[in-house]
Amino acid sequence: MHTSLSLAKDKALFTPGPLTTSRTVKQAMLRDLGSRDAAFIEVVREIRRRLVTLGGADETEYTTVLMQGSGTFGIEAVLSSIIPPEGKLLVLINGAYGERILKIANIHRIPTIPLRFQENAVPDPQRVDETLASDPSITHVAVIHCETTTGIINPIEAYGEIVQRHGRVYFVDAMSSFGAYPVDLNACGIDYLVSSSNKNIEGVPGFSFALARKAALLATRGFARTLSLDLLAQWEGLEKDGQFRFTPPTHALLAFYQALLELENEGGVPARARRYQRNYAITREAMQTMGFQAYLQPEDQGYIITSFYYPAHPNFNFQTFYEKLSDKGHVIYPGKLSHADCFRIGHIGRLEEGDVHALMAAIARTLSEMGVV
Ligand SMILES: *Cc1c(COP(=O)(O)O)cnc(C)c1O
Repeated sequence: MHTSLSLAKDKALFTPGPLTTSRTVKQAMLRDLGSRDAAFIEVVREIRRRLVTLGGADETEYTTVLMQGSGTFGIEAVLSSIIPPEGKLLVLINGAYGERILKIANIHRIPTIPLRFQENAVPDPQRVDETLASDPSITHVAVIHCETTTGIINPIEAYGEIVQRHGRVYFVDAMSSFGAYPVDLNACGIDYLVSSSNKNIEGVPGFSFALARKAALLATRGFARTLSLDLLAQWEGLEKDGQFRFTPPTHALLAFYQALLELENEGGVPARARRYQRNYAITREAMQTMGFQAYLQPEDQGYIITSFYYPAHPNFNFQTFYEKLSDKGHVIYPGKLSHADCFRIGHIGRLEEGDVHALMAAIARTLSEMGVV
C-alpha cells in the first residue's frame, strides 16, 4: 500500500495541545453523520448539557455555545460579541495568552486597559480592585486561568469576587485548565468561560466552547463585530433546532462526546486531576534529579504544564534535544517566555505514569548522547 503518512505508532504528546487521545475517542469518528441527523443533534444537545454540569452549574442559569475552530476562535467569538461599542476591557496579563487577548481586542478596536505583571507572578487582586475603583468606564475584565506560557495558576475566584463587587462582566480563558481543575462558575462569578475540544477533555481539535451566564449573553444583542463568530447568533441557532449556523465539525463532536463519557468513567475531574498531578510530580522530581530547574516556584506551579530553563551546559541545544526526543517517540514543546530560555513539558492528555517514566528515561539518554552531564 502506498501512503504518504507513516503508519508507525504515534508519538506521545507532552504538549499543551493537540494532545494524545484514547483509541476509543479516535474510533468514535469513524462515522459520517449529516448535520440534521437526529442522532447528531442529540450528541450536540448532550455535550452542551454536560459542559454546563462540568462548570458546576445548571442550564437554568448557564448555557454552552459551541464554536467551530480552535480555542482562539472561541476567545475571539466571545470578546468580539459581548462588549458594547462604548465598553472597555481590562486585561490581566502575565504571559503570552494574556497578550493574545489584548491583541484580539485591539484588532476589534475595543478600548483596553492592559494590566501587566511578571510572568512568574499572579496578577495582584488588589491592583485589580484599585483599577476598577478608579475607572468606572471599564465594563469587562478578562484573565487567563492557567497561563500556559509558564503553567502558573491565576486565582480566578479572587478576581471574580472583585469584578462582581464592582458590577463588571467577567471573562475567563480556562482553555488549559477546564476539565483538570474544578471550576464552579457561580462561586467564581464567571459570566463567560472558554475552553476547547482538544485540551483536558481529551477530544480532538475542531471546536471551542463558551460557557455563558444566560442573562449576560441575552444582553449582548447587536454587539457582534463579525458574522461567523457571532456568539449570540450561534447560541440562538443551537437553541432553536440544535443546529450550527455553518458546517459543524461532526467528527470532532462525536469524538468529544466519547471523551466526555471517558472523563466520567475515569471518575470525573477529581480523578483526572489526580492523574495529571501524578504525571507532574514524576516529571518535576526526575527533571530536578537530572539537574533541570523549573521556571516557577512550586507554590505557583499548576499540574498542567511546566517550564524548565535550558541547562547552562555549552553542549545543550534545544533543537537537537527536541529532535532526539522526538526520534525516541516523545514530543515536548518549546518555551514562550519573553525573557528566559525555557522549554515546556505538558502533563495533560491521555498519558499515564508509564509514559512519563519513558520520557524521563529518554531525556536522560539524550543528555548523555549530547554530552550534557
Ligand atoms: C491552548 C490555549 C489557547 C488556545 O489555543 P489554540 O491554539 O487556538 O487552540 C488559548 N489560551 C490558553 C491559555 C491556551 O492554553
